[in-house]
Amino acid sequence: MSKNRDDIKFEDILEKVNKYIDDEEQIKVIKKAYEFAREKHDGQYRKSGEAYIYHPMNVALILTTVCADYETISAGFLHDVLEDCDCSTEEMEEYFGKSITKLVQGVTKLSKIHFSTENEYLIDYYKKIIVGMSEDVRVIIIKLCDRLHNMRTLWAIPEDRQKVKAHEALDILAPIAHHLGIHKIKSELEDLSLRYLKPDVFYDIAEKLNKTKIERDKTVYDMQKEVTDLLIEYHIPHEIKGRAKSIYSIYNKLDKGKKFSDIYDLLALRILVKTEQECYLALGLIHSKFRPLPKRFKDYVAMPKPNMYQSLHTTVFGIDGYLFEIQIRTYEMDEVAENGIASHWSYKENGSKITANIQTTTEQKLQFFKSIIDLSHDKMSSEEFVNSVRDEVLNNNIYCFTPKGDVIELPKGATPIDFAYKIHTKVGETTVGAIVNNNIVPLSYELQDNDIVKINTSKNSTPSKEWINIVKATATKNKIKSFFTKNEREIYIERGKYILEKELRKQKIGFNEFINETNIFTICQDTKLDDLEDIYLNIGNGKFTGNGIINIINKQDDDVTPKIVKIADKDIDADIIVSGIDKVKVNLANCCNPVFGDPIVGYISKGNGIKVHRLHCHNLEMLEDRTLDVKWNTNINKRYMTSLLIHTNDSNNHMLDLIKLISSINVNVDGIKTMGKAEKIIYEVECYVTGLEQLNKLILSINNYEYVEKVERTMR
Ligand code: MN
Repeated sequence: MSKNRDDIKFEDILEKVNKYIDDEEQIKVIKKAYEFAREKHDGQYRKSGEAYIYHPMNVALILTTVCADYETISAGFLHDVLEDCDCSTEEMEEYFGKSITKLVQGVTKLSKIHFSTENEYLIDYYKKIIVGMSEDVRVIIIKLCDRLHNMRTLWAIPEDRQKVKAHEALDILAPIAHHLGIHKIKSELEDLSLRYLKPDVFYDIAEKLNKTKIERDKTVYDMQKEVTDLLIEYHIPHEIKGRAKSIYSIYNKLDKGKKFSDIYDLLALRILVKTEQECYLALGLIHSKFRPLPKRFKDYVAMPKPNMYQSLHTTVFGIDGYLFEIQIRTYEMDEVAENGIASHWSYKENGSKITANIQTTTEQKLQFFKSIIDLSHDKMSSEEFVNSVRDEVLNNNIYCFTPKGDVIELPKGATPIDFAYKIHTKVGETTVGAIVNNNIVPLSYELQDNDIVKINTSKNSTPSKEWINIVKATATKNKIKSFFTKNEREIYIERGKYILEKELRKQKIGFNEFINETNIFTICQDTKLDDLEDIYLNIGNGKFTGNGIINIINKQDDDVTPKIVKIADKDIDADIIVSGIDKVKVNLANCCNPVFGDPIVGYISKGNGIKVHRLHCHNLEMLEDRTLDVKWNTNINKRYMTSLLIHTNDSNNHMLDLIKLISSINVNVDGIKTMGKAEKIIYEVECYVTGLEQLNKLILSINNYEYVEKVERTMR
């Protein structure tokens, strides 16, 4: 492929387009886009010295190699116009319509990245790519082609910028191209990145490949001839291509510790046939003539890769003792292998349907896309989100199989639990065990590439909280966490319903009679709750008592029942207001001595009215279902008895001191006595305060004395 041509002509592009687009109107739009871009970029030059228009032209040309639709190619021509030229969105829309303009806007947004640190830059970049992809995957395909041309002309920019751009291409764009299945672009981006990031390694491999090229070419040619003869003999129409391994893929293997001479698949053939059946027929014939290398056979036809790649892979001992890696696939599979998602472009459909097609395919067929969307639904910071996408979705993946042969893509370090959740949340939640390659393994087992995993489930089993620490994928963690929050919620709802039912029974009110639409509406209005479930939840978690809820309705009934008079708060001359009841005996409990302002709760005593306790009084714990909501009457000025224990670290008698202090803040002392050992006197003070506010002030003042260790309110 000739790179960095500046003698490219529009006619060259048009010729490529004509091979797969025959609609006159569409061709017209493409022409118009080219002319518009040429005019707008007139007078602009690239760093490499050529006229700027050659860049968008090259991008459009690369787009034709993946058979992009006319809107995408037009947007390819226009992709830098909004950003770099004097052209408004409105003007572009007027000429090219909304759809093309939106694509251009998408690409423009991607290149406008604000950052201060490297990390923020990456986060911003990733987010935009991911958002762009979920809106219209064509934006990302244009971006990939844009970057590919920029990488081809990277020599023109300063060295430090070269490295930044190469890193970006290798870390972000190549993995995305890989997951979209666009092998052609992925592979070239990788090779170009390596050339700028590790020039020594790149040129070393290139040179070694070159040295052995003539010998290899002859061997490949001979092998190709033998295979062709074999297939013709058995009437299998086919095409054979010798194929070059990319320098980056060789580098990757060297990096994993292999020696150059050990890299089997330096010699490679690709056989294209018409049908899936012929793939297997061809494979059988080849294996019968050339001995296959054990464990090197892979059937991606029956079990496609997550990026939709299909092919048979085998390595055989070929002629002259050379090992050959052979790929066998149909023409259709080959198209998908090279162009991935882009091979789902459908030209016959018109307008918006094209977008829908490639976009739906992306959303439905690509696991990584689902994983990203899954993650984006979880609550996490942008940084966590981006890290999860980069580390768990785009990079370092392993591929495991279900017993039926479906491929499950997982982050490195994933466990059988991650695997189970990836199949389905329900499978994950009911997992009890796992069998990997016919061996029982613990749930914390670290899965390896190509493991066959069988998950054992049990209908009534539920996740363990422990799992959160075991699993690898953030998405799995979040699913387990949400199981627990959801589950706690369900428990509360169930409990709330139970409490309400019991309370209704006690008050001899029929459950179905009470739970009617009008009552639910009234209760929701009064309590600001959402619905019946929410009412149960808030009884269950203790925010409301069953009686409190029932009383909301009873209170309503008061309006029509003349014998109970509804009294406004200000008219009551009691300390405590019990919701819905006005003539009832109320006493303050003398175990915890509540004072005005304390959080309180009422307890229905047997035959002795309502006792009011402080909310945290330990005497209350046993009596939960006999409690009811009560509140302080703010219109009463009274003093409340309270008793304090003052612990000191002193043997001197400070009684007088204390009385003086207490009186000085206007608290009435009823009695004070000393207790405890001689060297550390404890004082018990009984006094009357106006409320919690005054009491807190008192405790604070007493604490100011140096000899005071602590002050506490007594609770019996
Ligand atoms: Mn560009």
